[in-house]
Amino acid sequence: MLPEIVFATNNAHKLDEIRAILKDKFLVRSLAEIGCHDDIPETADTLEGNALIKARYVAERYGVSCFADDTGLEVEALGGRPGVHTARYAFPDRYDAEANTTKLLEELADKTNRKARFRTIVALIDKDGEHLFEGIVSGEIAPERRGDKGFGYDPVFIPENEGLTFAELGVAVKNEISHRARAVQKLVAFLEKRAG
Ligand code: IMP
Repeated sequence: MLPEIVFATNNAHKLDEIRAILKDKFLVRSLAEIGCHDDIPETADTLEGNALIKARYVAERYGVSCFADDTGLEVEALGGRPGVHTARYAFPDRYDAEANTTKLLEELADKTNRKARFRTIVALIDKDGEHLFEGIVSGEIAPERRGDKGFGYDPVFIPENEGLTFAELGVAVKNEISHRARAVQKLVAFLEKRAG
């Protein structure tokens, strides 16, 4: 029997990604599977703060070991924006992936520096306390959308040394090199080391 851990999300794409990464090691439960259908507020002004808010919310109410993630796209020519506002970049009150991507392409239209990075913070809460893990993938923003796999900004993000967008590369490659995969690999190493 694999040990169980709750991933504080109901995002099906993220669950697929994380389950593929943790498949032989942990049984990953979603929020829906533990009966949590709340829209957990993300009110912090850092990725670390938001990841902790989500993990604490679930750990405190449901008494389970839990991890949560928060991701930002940091674009060099935009001074690190949209950063912690990546999900609600186009509209402050709602998530619209299409509008977010369009806004990004428009803001970068006259820029030659298209360097960007995705940064993920994973916050784990377990019986021993709180732990943070960071994952970064550097790359650049494509001039236009390419590919139909993935979600969010995947059609315009070209990871370093790949030449294709995440949406062209697909989930298998993405799970090797993505920001979230790198943060989760650190989480796994931590859990495995502790399990002895
Ligand atoms: P979250 O904190 O993981 O919900 O991510 C914040 C924003 O970053 C959302 O708009 C996501 O669409 C976007 N995002 C997070 N991870 C990825 C990814 O792997 N590819 C593309 N966009 C992502």
